[in-house]
Amino acid sequence: MENSITKTRQQKIDKLVWLEIKNGADLLGAITAYCLKNNIQAGLIFAIGALKKAKLSFYDQTKKKYLALSVNRPLEILAGLGNVSLKGGRPFVHLHLTASDKAGRVYGGHLAQGSIVFACESAIMRASGQPLNRRFDKLTGLNLWDWG
Ligand code: ZN
Repeated sequence: MENSITKTRQQKIDKLVWLEIKNGADLLGAITAYCLKNNIQAGLIFAIGALKKAKLSFYDQTKKKYLALSVNRPLEILAGLGNVSLKGGRPFVHLHLTASDKAGRVYGGHLAQGSIVFACESAIMRASGQPLNRRFDKLTGLNLWDWG
């Protein structure tokens, strides 16, 4: 059987940081600012809570560009899951979000700037050791992990 996993890296989780993100903050901006200020270069990110509005995006694999999706009403953050690695030598947060409206309709996508927090409980599991760097990947058009 073909091996579909071509690369792995094992690291220890050296710290769990709980984050409360204030009402009115930009979700992606707040987490990114925390990682930059505290030099968190590698780890897993989790978030639950509620948004006043969301800006998400969907990557069009043919056009190789992000298509924007705005949801301009209150939403529950059912699951925010992502990671932090390095891009251009700086901590870069990549977070995906699943969120529901009052009718239970679910929206999801790649979190963009402009998603405004109503209340948010987040956590970062920081990994120790060599962080992964992102590098442009021609096949996908995305900045993917460079294992070099
Ligand atoms: Zn994404």
